[in-house]
Amino acid sequence: MPDPAPDTVQSRLASVLARVEAREAQSGRAPGSARLIAVSKTFGVDEIRPVIAAGQRRFGENRVQEAQAKWPLLREMADDIELHLIGPLQSNKAKEAVALFDAIHTIDRDKIAGALADEIAKQGRKPQLFVQVNTGLEPQKAGIAPREAAEFVERCRTVHGLAIGGLMCIPPAGEAAGPHFALLAKMAAEIGVSELSMGMSGDFETAIAFGATYVRVGGAIFGSRPPIAPAVAPDEPAAG
Ligand SMILES: *Cc1c(COP(=O)(O)O)cnc(C)c1O
Repeated sequence: MPDPAPDTVQSRLASVLARVEAREAQSGRAPGSARLIAVSKTFGVDEIRPVIAAGQRRFGENRVQEAQAKWPLLREMADDIELHLIGPLQSNKAKEAVALFDAIHTIDRDKIAGALADEIAKQGRKPQLFVQVNTGLEPQKAGIAPREAAEFVERCRTVHGLAIGGLMCIPPAGEAAGPHFALLAKMAAEIGVSELSMGMSGDFETAIAFGATYVRVGGAIFGSRPPIAPAVAPDEPAAG
C-alpha cells in the first residue's frame, strides 16, 4: 500500500488515530469511544516529546521505575497528560504507582489490590482501575483466570474497597485475538464494568470491533522496540 506521508512519529500517530476513527465508524461506535493509549515503554523523553507536541495526551508505561524517571519531566509539557500503568505491578511499588499513574490496568491478585487500596486511601488519589484477565490461561502471563475473575472483582470491591472500572487482557501471541476480546467483553458485561483495555499494534482494530474502550498501541506509533525478556508475574520466582 503506497503511503505518501513521511515516516515520522507524527505521521504514524496520525495514521493510527485515523485507523481508530475508521474502525469506530465501521463498528457503529461513537467517535472517541475507543481511546488511544500511546505505549511509550523503552522510548526516551526525546522520542516521546514529539508525540506530546502532536497532541497525544494518553500514554502507557509498563515499569514503575522507568516511568518515574521519564514522566515528571514530560508532564511539564502539558497539564492534561494521562499516564497508564499497563505492566505487572509489585506490591512494594504500590506507593509509587498510585502517586504517578492515572490508571492501573494490571490488578490480578489480592496482595496488589490490598496494597493499592492502602495507598489510594493514604494519598487521596483516584486512579482508574482495571483487573487483568489471563484469557489464554498462559502460565507465564500475569492476570487472573477467567473463571475466577467475577469473584476477584467482587472481592476488590467489598474486601478492598476498590472501584474497579474495567477489564484488561493480552491475548496469547500467535493466536487469533478476536475470541479473547469477545470473551473479555462478555465477562465485563456479566461483571458489570464498562471499560475494556484490549488491542495492541497488531490487533487494535479487531479490539475496537469487539468493544475496546482503550487500545494500547506502541510499535505502530513509536517504531519497533529492541526485544525484551517476557514479563513474569512479579511476586513469583521466575520459572526455570
Ligand atoms: C508493550 C505493550 C503494548 C503495546 O504493544 P505494541 O505491540 O508495541 O503495540 C500493549 N499492552 C501491553 C500490556 C504492553 O506491554
